[in-house]
Amino acid sequence: MQARKRWPLPAEAEVHISAELNRGGHNWVDSGKKNFKINCPFFHVNKPDSGHNLEITKDGRMAHCWVCDWSGSWNKLAKEVGLSPFGSSESTTDTYTAAIADTDVFGRMLDDLDSSADDDLEHTLPEDEITPWSTKKWRGLRRSFLKDIPAYSWKQKIVVNDKDSKSYGKVFYVDRILWPYHQQGRLVGYVGRRLDTGDTMKYYRAAWCKAKEALFPYDFVKNNYPKCTTVVLVEGEVDALNLLQAGIPALSILGSNNWSSRKVDLLLSLGVTKVFLLMDGDFAGRKAAKAIKKSARDYFDVVVLKLDDGDDPGEMNKDQLAWLTDRIDR
Ligand SMILES: [Zn+2]
Repeated sequence: MQARKRWPLPAEAEVHISAELNRGGHNWVDSGKKNFKINCPFFHVNKPDSGHNLEITKDGRMAHCWVCDWSGSWNKLAKEVGLSPFGSSESTTDTYTAAIADTDVFGRMLDDLDSSADDDLEHTLPEDEITPWSTKKWRGLRRSFLKDIPAYSWKQKIVVNDKDSKSYGKVFYVDRILWPYHQQGRLVGYVGRRLDTGDTMKYYRAAWCKAKEALFPYDFVKNNYPKCTTVVLVEGEVDALNLLQAGIPALSILGSNNWSSRKVDLLLSLGVTKVFLLMDGDFAGRKAAKAIKKSARDYFDVVVLKLDDGDDPGEMNKDQLAWLTDRIDR
């Protein structure tokens, strides 16, 4: 039996939305007590939005841009800009969705999330728009390492599909570095990070990816650390890559709000017995570490590592990396 998925409680929705906006690099500010506002990620005729014109209610039920008139729920917005919609896990033992199902008074089904009909579809990479990453290093990640992961150059084609927009049908491109999520021999998703300094839609994740059911880069860790019983769990894909390049087995949980019991099973399949939790040094990261520890401690030896306020694993110094390296059983 599948659990009915319901709209999250307002407090859960607010934490989820703010964490996802942070992950995607969307600079958000409060707009009154009930709304967030961000620079609209959709195409604006004159220039990209810099006036925080897209408002999102903190309960996620409504989002609207006052310039281009884009409207929809958080789930619709998230899918269009490559962020995670609410609770995209099928697992009935997932504490997050279970808690919501017990207490939600609205009893409203999550938009579009019960489309399990397309579960068996084989998804692919945007083949026409990618080429293997071959030319250069990227932010400290070596070319040869990126090739092994693997990584791709992605010229993401975006077509304005809002029929009411004056730019309807117009095409523009965003350059990204793309990493596929290969898991147990299957492609279960991908993410692309912008190569320029633009902050809007910094990370774009495939809309069909079930982020609650994937760890990155799972098959790389499985193949390169076959005997390793310890892994470091981090929030972001780039955090995991930085540690892996330093020789530390690490996996991204795909964002602070995407933990689920399915990930316990994935770690057990790797033969993991000990987990270091290295979440970002912010509210969402600490909250995630607490929740993950609670759901994983029956299966693994779990050690929570605390970073300073505002730090992420990318800012670890040599001593911290050496300390961690010493504690990995190979
Ligand atoms: Zn707009």
